[in-house]
Amino acid sequence: MVTINFADLHCDTITKMFEHDADIYQNFCQVDIKKLSTFDSVIQFFAIWLDKKYLAKPFDNTVEFIKYYTKQIEKYKTYFTNMKFFLAIEGGEALENNLDNLKKFHDMGVILLTLTWNYENDLAGGVKSQCGLKKFGGEVVELMDELNMIIDVSHASEKTFWDVYKLSKNSIVASHSNCRKICDNARNLDDEQILAIKEKNGLIGLNLYSDFISDGVANLNDIAKHTDHLLNLIGEENICLGCDFDGADRYPSPIKNVADMKNVYNLFKKLYGKQITEKIFYDNVKHFLTARKFL
Ligand SMILES: [Zn+2]
Repeated sequence: MVTINFADLHCDTITKMFEHDADIYQNFCQVDIKKLSTFDSVIQFFAIWLDKKYLAKPFDNTVEFIKYYTKQIEKYKTYFTNMKFFLAIEGGEALENNLDNLKKFHDMGVILLTLTWNYENDLAGGVKSQCGLKKFGGEVVELMDELNMIIDVSHASEKTFWDVYKLSKNSIVASHSNCRKICDNARNLDDEQILAIKEKNGLIGLNLYSDFISDGVANLNDIAKHTDHLLNLIGEENICLGCDFDGADRYPSPIKNVADMKNVYNLFKKLYGKQITEKIFYDNVKHFLTARKFL
């Protein structure tokens, strides 16, 4: 039996599950415990992303999502021997401009915050704005450093990225972003940003959303083009997966859900060998979380 370990920095499954009152063991989503059980060891981040309809009461709604997730996790806790799940928030709107709310989320188990989604919020500008880090965003970054929370710059504007890079004393991650050199999309990172993340010993999660992989219809080899570029630019230590399952509508064939990531594993193993593939698929995230004392 081939052993494949799998670590993923980003999925939007909780939002989908919550709306359909679905079960985390087996559901219609792209990620559930049953599908993840096809891997040997698993590290899966679950992000809470708030659709517009939830933004009238972003804090309360995020708490509702967290409660729902926590209840589900409690129900299946016997699975969490070789499976580790971590909670993330995608978009600082949830904080409602109040630092105490960051502490509350931290106490509820949130370890990663993606500062913005695509738009400007109280913290900073996203990719669809020119704005950088704001005063409140600076306070959030400093408190996240203090609380040992992971700062995620995926979706951030270029100005926000560099403001965070300068201000944070810690490693930063781009949990689900690819390379702009290969696919010129604002959601992807340019080479300077990639080098800056490497310099801070952070992580870059390869995103499986077709639109961020290539201009046309993406296939598995197109994912490898981003991986090739990252390997050439920064070596293999800071590359991982940020698949974006349940957060996008087009994935390269034959990827339909997380269990299909075996196809990417096999391709990478053929192209880069077992050791580098294992680093990208699991080891780099494990080492990062161990160094930051989450494991
Ligand atoms: Zn996202």
